[in-house]
Amino acid sequence: MLRYGLIGANGKMGREIESYFSSFGDVCVFKKDVGLIEEHDTPQVIIDFSSPDAVAETVAICEKFNSALVIGTTALDESHFEMLQNLSESVPVVQSYNFSTGIAILKKMLKEYSHYFDNWDGAMVEIHHNQKKDAPSGTAKMLKSAMNRGLPISSIRVGGVFGEHTVIFSNAGETIEITHRALSRRAFTIGVRNAALFALGKQNGYYTYDDVLESLNEIL
Ligand code: NAD
Repeated sequence: MLRYGLIGANGKMGREIESYFSSFGDVCVFKKDVGLIEEHDTPQVIIDFSSPDAVAETVAICEKFNSALVIGTTALDESHFEMLQNLSESVPVVQSYNFSTGIAILKKMLKEYSHYFDNWDGAMVEIHHNQKKDAPSGTAKMLKSAMNRGLPISSIRVGGVFGEHTVIFSNAGETIEITHRALSRRAFTIGVRNAALFALGKQNGYYTYDDVLESLNEIL
């Protein structure tokens, strides 16, 4: 059972995280959103799915409670990463632009195999719901940097799509397409809980979901 705090508690991810975590008997003891602050107990871990504007305050909250941080908020800039790195000297911080285990595996595959496609054309298409604020998605940028090559990214914002990323490699005679599709926000909330359990086993340090992936057998 986890005692956790939620930043962005009223958002789509915040509500989904609370619903999923409650199925394990975890208790949300601290909640923050615009115009909302609730504090019932000391959280072991703070979970932030809100907005880049919240990062400085989230860091201060983790320092106050000496709690771990799992942060999935996207569109962070250098100054945010610096704050998170500084925090990670005293508590564990797990940051990822995508907490789905499937994306972590896809990233690993691309890192290992994309060099075979060095002389092929490459492209990526990412599709998300029409309320998503950033484009290209943080995940698309993460997958691109795993491949370490130039690659155009097309972003499509339609309807209620949870998140779809297709990587395309093509030469004159053949095409390979690899697609990851999040079927619901559950794709992320499972990973967020994995990351929270992972963080509780650490003293401090800066981690990503790649580190969580490598420890899944020990956590679960
Ligand atoms: P959302 O707009 O539904 O929810 C965001 C919530 O944060 C809102 O309730 C908003 O009021 C609140 N908020 C905004 N500023 C705040 C502040 N300063 N302090 C506290 N709360 C604040 O968005 P969402 O779909 O839930 O996504 C939230 C974030 O998580 C986005 O950055 C999104 O891109 C990211 N996201 C990441 C992953 C991942 O796996 N890393 C998955 C889905 C979404």
